[in-house]
Amino acid sequence: MILGHEALGQVIGTGEWVVPVIRRACAPPCASCARGRRDLCLTSHYRERGIFGAHGYFCDWAADDPADLVGVPPELADRAVLVEPMSVVEKAIARACQTHPGEPATALVLGAGPIGVLAALALRLRGLGVSLASLEPRDHPRARLLERAGIQYSSIPDRTPPMADIVIEAAGAPAAALAAVQSLNPLGVAVLLGAPEMPPGLPLLDFIAGNCTVLGSVNAGPESFAAAVEDLACLDSHVLDALIRRAAFGDFAASILGPPGEAVKIVHILAE
Ligand SMILES: [Zn+2]
Repeated sequence: MILGHEALGQVIGTGEWVVPVIRRACAPPCASCARGRRDLCLTSHYRERGIFGAHGYFCDWAADDPADLVGVPPELADRAVLVEPMSVVEKAIARACQTHPGEPATALVLGAGPIGVLAALALRLRGLGVSLASLEPRDHPRARLLERAGIQYSSIPDRTPPMADIVIEAAGAPAAALAAVQSLNPLGVAVLLGAPEMPPGLPLLDFIAGNCTVLGSVNAGPESFAAAVEDLACLDSHVLDALIRRAAFGDFAASILGPPGEAVKIVHILAE
């Protein structure tokens, strides 16, 4: 299978820049797929380009239905590789805000990978007080990038992350799922994006007494892709530039095996 799901392409003939949505409907379509919300597919018989069941975009040419393409303004083309991961973040934040029964003012993100960093930036754009907690030391370039963007950084385990109204787990680790729930203020909403299981010790009584919610979220619908394009256009260009590093194609081993740097996304250039 051809890999590659975070793609940016240019339409032959019109020159428009587009980002493809990844998921393709189950067949025959379930109620969610039928109403254009494949991200909420009920059968799990969907396909995802570059992930399973369908080829991805690590190739010269690809064919897609126009309905599966999201337009990107030309001035955003250099950064549009972030649209797909940002769409996942937008859906998670929208669901958290819809679910919270009060007025959320603070947010905590767990994990400083692409999803975590983008989530923190998107929450900051909404005017929330945002903290991010991760394992990288305080002087790590990614921690400094976050602080430049007005996000408080907590290096675990040196500093306990603050409590928050919305918590986004983007670390992919069971311990982070537990920390997400334990960090909830009353009425708080925790969104789990990666942790595969919950370790024992979940404080259910506090959770019940606080009217808290835990929800899972995956993939993104058309509205979330549109929100991703909008938010990326609003983010500070210096911060955005720091999120992406360009490298020669032959350097991919260092990108995969090396320690994480400041940039959350590394683009390898095949040919200029
Ligand atoms: Zn479906």
